[in-house]
Amino acid sequence: MPNKKRLAFYAGSGCGGCSQSLMLSPSLATMLDGADIAFWATRSGDLTEDEISQLDDKGIDVLMFAGPVDGEASIATAKLLRRKAKRVVAYGACAHLGGLCGLTNVIPGAKLRELAERNGGFIKPLSAVIEVDYVLPGCPPPQGMVERMVKELFLADDVPDVGTVFASSKGVCAQCDRKHLNNPLEEIRRFHAAPPDPDICLLDQGYICLGPVTRGGCGAVCLEANRPCTGCAGPTAGVLDQGGAILQSLASLVPLSGDISGEKEHRVLDSIQDIVGTAYKYSAAASLLKRRVNDGE
Ligand code: SF4
Ligand code: SF4
Repeated sequence: MPNKKRLAFYAGSGCGGCSQSLMLSPSLATMLDGADIAFWATRSGDLTEDEISQLDDKGIDVLMFAGPVDGEASIATAKLLRRKAKRVVAYGACAHLGGLCGLTNVIPGAKLRELAERNGGFIKPLSAVIEVDYVLPGCPPPQGMVERMVKELFLADDVPDVGTVFASSKGVCAQCDRKHLNNPLEEIRRFHAAPPDPDICLLDQGYICLGPVTRGGCGAVCLEANRPCTGCAGPTAGVLDQGGAILQSLASLVPLSGDISGEKEHRVLDSIQDIVGTAYKYSAAASLLKRRVNDGE
């Protein structure tokens, strides 16, 4: 390692997949060789506020922060950790966008929302409460992206520019080699009904795929497994709202009926099951929607 770095990993909440993704990195041993580890906390209980307070301000070179922030206690911890670190990486979809946990912000039904609030309030991406220097996207971050972070952040002489996202600036479609037929979208098909043709673009077959609006860099691994991209790497550069962007893309594929009421277009788009869970699977908390304010009950 060119410059010995003091590093730390913190996962306040979430599923544990992020720390696993780092453990599986082939470059982990090289990264840790000679590094100084301030702490490696894979759940919030591993590290008390007192222990964090005792660390020197800006004494950590790089802090990898995984999991969403979801209430006053976790916001306070994130702010305290920020004081201790020169550079902070939002590690994984939950820290980046709120992740799957962010869907609790839009749960319909007062009782479920009450439960979500009691469990710590509404989910926020890390960047909503502290300044974030880098983003490693994904749920969990795919190995190609983990490797890129390790090489650029820990093994290179120079640190990457602030604002670097360790993923491609192009969409997942750029790494997907399925054939395009440019078929119009006449109906939405679901995976349990019939498996898709593994060689043809899923959108061409009527299956929803978030590849066009999702950052690439994962090697289109889900497509290789004949599954759709569900958007875990977040929106491509320049896309403000990943869910809105895919809904707009889908709408543009529905053939115009010539009927000013848009009845046909509505019929196709209304047939999407769980529209928020599909379009905003990982990004609800970071979207323009952010949270549900009215249960409509
Ligand atoms: S929409 Fe999905 S299936 Fe089609 S090219 Fe993009 S990533 Fe591949
Ligand atoms: S294909 Fe999409 S959902 Fe799958 S790993 Fe890549 S970005 Fe994530």
